[in-house]
Amino acid sequence: MANNRTFTMIKPEAVAKGYTGAILDRMVQGGFRIVAMKKTQLSKAEAGTFYEVHAERPFYGELVDYMSSGPIVAAILEKDNAVTDFRTLIGSTDPTEAAEGTIRKDFAESKAQNAVHGSDSDENAQIEGSYFFSGREMY
Ligand code: UDP
Ligand code: MG
Repeated sequence: MANNRTFTMIKPEAVAKGYTGAILDRMVQGGFRIVAMKKTQLSKAEAGTFYEVHAERPFYGELVDYMSSGPIVAAILEKDNAVTDFRTLIGSTDPTEAAEGTIRKDFAESKAQNAVHGSDSDENAQIEGSYFFSGREMY
């Protein structure tokens, strides 16, 4: 499996606060090339499917409500070791535990509303990216 692409979303609270440009700049300055990008909004059902792996977790209902609450910016990003390097760039899930200079440290509101999504494996990057983008939207 290719290891040079990952999938990200700028989450609803970060888009609503006007952080889209600043967060995209961090990604580009971090060495990631934008392969595909769009602003869109998930329905509750779509958010539920996207986070299905967490269906048994206590935060699942709130997560689905939150992720469908407003527009997001979805993108496929390219770099060597994309998944791992992007997880480093965004920082820990909980911004209070995220390293200095990471996107979540600087832009996240809370552990739930944590500004950005980043895929956790090459396989999921492929699945998530192709859920949002057709081949003719990737360049
Ligand atoms: N989340 C939450 N509470 C938790 C753990 C996770 O609300 O205790 C939310 C948070 O928005 C997180 C998402 O669920 O980004 C997915 O959780 P995961 O453990 O996959 O974290 P991530 O991969 O996003 O760092
Ligand atoms: Mg995850």
